[in-house]
Amino acid sequence: MPGEFDFISWLRQHQSRSPLVRLGIGDDLAVLKLPADDLLLVGVDQMMDGVHFDSAIHTPRAIGRKAMNRNLSDCAAMACLPAAALATICLPKGVGEDYARELYLGMTEAGQPFDCPVVGGDTGSWSGKLVVSVTILGRSAGVEPVTRSGAKPGDTIYVTGPLGGSILGRHMTFEPRVKLARYLAGSGTITSMIDLSDGLSRDLANVCRQSGVGARVAIESIPVHDDALKMSVPNLDADVVAQTRVAFDHALHDGEDYELLFTSSGTPDVGTRIGEITNTTGIIGTYRNVPEPLTPRGWEHTL
Ligand SMILES: [Mg+2]
Repeated sequence: MPGEFDFISWLRQHQSRSPLVRLGIGDDLAVLKLPADDLLLVGVDQMMDGVHFDSAIHTPRAIGRKAMNRNLSDCAAMACLPAAALATICLPKGVGEDYARELYLGMTEAGQPFDCPVVGGDTGSWSGKLVVSVTILGRSAGVEPVTRSGAKPGDTIYVTGPLGGSILGRHMTFEPRVKLARYLAGSGTITSMIDLSDGLSRDLANVCRQSGVGARVAIESIPVHDDALKMSVPNLDADVVAQTRVAFDHALHDGEDYELLFTSSGTPDVGTRIGEITNTTGIIGTYRNVPEPLTPRGWEHTL
């Protein structure tokens, strides 16, 4: 992009420091120094205008924050500490350098509470819409990574916060549950974990598939966010029972909550219990004691 050299010198001046970063933005590669016994965890997550955000509504600062926070939430899902991030941005032609700076500042700002600096990346412009991709590096730092595949029949299923209705705004402003995840994983009774990005029904199905188990969920026990209640109120014709069920459906299927879902063989002191892992296949929901198959309706990318 025009003025790329100026932008890079601006980036160099604005990068956050971290004791792990020996060399940050400015060379061909960044140089990190990780403690010798750390496992390195790596992931990438991309966001597209019109899918994960709307550039006509959301500021570049908010978009940058979300791009980083989604990756920090993946660190939470695995109970690792964020170490550094790389950012690739495809800018629509003509948006200008200030827009790129705001995107970058949003990412830096979101990373700061977690000591996770942006140490490199690439910026280009094209005739398409804005695409932001962040690669995250995490480290185990004394806590064994928690996977999706460790759930066992008899384990209890928990979520860390109220769900549903994130489209009203929370999907841009959530806080990654890194500290909570490290606390839970450090307690040693967590058998599997995932961050709720695609919706409880879909993310729980992923855990079940990868663990080779089934699940039973007591739908009334799912903590419902006020946003989900707000979204269920327009059903003025429905009776109160049906309205409540609509709110639970938002909590089950909406996604982008970025709370954690985990399974435990013990009794953790945080989280709301919503069900248990079974030795059957498939997920059964029970609502007012009536069982029903719980089919994933959360977000799925189709190609
Ligand atoms: Mg995830």
